[in-house]
Amino acid sequence: MNFSLGSERAVVGVDVGGTKIEIGAVLGDGTVLCSKRYSMDRSSQEATVSSVIDALRDFMGTTWPGAKLPAIGIGLPGDIDPQRGVWLRSLNMRISQPVELAHLVRVQYGCPVFVDNDVHAATLAELYWGAGRDSESFVYVNIGTGIAAGIVSNARLLRGTSNFAGEIGHMVVEPEGEPCHCGHAGCLENVASGGGMIQSAIKQMERYPHTVLRQFREEDRLSSSTIFRAAEDGDELAAAIAGRALRGLGIAMVNIVNLLDPEQLIFGGGVLRSRKLIAYLEEYVSRYALAGNRASLKSVRASSLPVDQVGLLGAACLAFNQEEVN
Ligand SMILES: [Zn+2]
Repeated sequence: MNFSLGSERAVVGVDVGGTKIEIGAVLGDGTVLCSKRYSMDRSSQEATVSSVIDALRDFMGTTWPGAKLPAIGIGLPGDIDPQRGVWLRSLNMRISQPVELAHLVRVQYGCPVFVDNDVHAATLAELYWGAGRDSESFVYVNIGTGIAAGIVSNARLLRGTSNFAGEIGHMVVEPEGEPCHCGHAGCLENVASGGGMIQSAIKQMERYPHTVLRQFREEDRLSSSTIFRAAEDGDELAAAIAGRALRGLGIAMVNIVNLLDPEQLIFGGGVLRSRKLIAYLEEYVSRYALAGNRASLKSVRASSLPVDQVGLLGAACLAFNQEEVN
């Protein structure tokens, strides 16, 4: 797939994460010419917005000075209105009032500015430069601190009515399950995200006096990957949490495959890196999905893009794609 801007002109991508902001100049073939990482102050809505504006000002002043920019793309956590260029809300980033971010940036740099949800942005990076390059229809599933997906159908990102399509983290996989921060209960994010798995471990530690997870917690290395590893080594609590996470993901993937009939499931984010875990999900889907949908599904795989760069690449894709006008 080609961009109308061509490959030779660099855009600036801004990836806004929970703890840092990554800004880079990116060519149309996905080459990152230069990038810089900034810290994020999210103590208030004003602090969050200032962090983004100040980081961009520094990047444009020091790392990419004097460049005539064709466009800037910004990937953000939370709910976004890409058509109006507005950051609607984000609990994690303390955004409770809508921020006209595209407008704020555009008046400073005089070029088109595109904003979208970070998982939608990463999905575009997958479509243009990653595992989705040869696929017209795929679902990109991001499993990190939270869980969300980007749906591509006929080579277009499916946004839904309000750009909220893909919130699979709140798909109910345990109807009688624990309360979720969204206000409902039994959500996939509770059982299978990095944050959810760590919370489950902490809650249940008392009942497993010999679990190695206690030691991991004391050493500050309790994570989804250490839990999966301990499960393989036979730790009972770790096995219970890992089993529940994989079952929840399995149920969600079967529902996704039956609902959307994708050609590929592509996993991104920090949690599901192991080939073995992905093979488990592939097996689960092949056992429980409908025969026709199963036949359509050609591959279940990890993203081919680097975990620490996909956000920046995605943000750049927003600028190249120029799908929305604000
Ligand atoms: Zn929920």
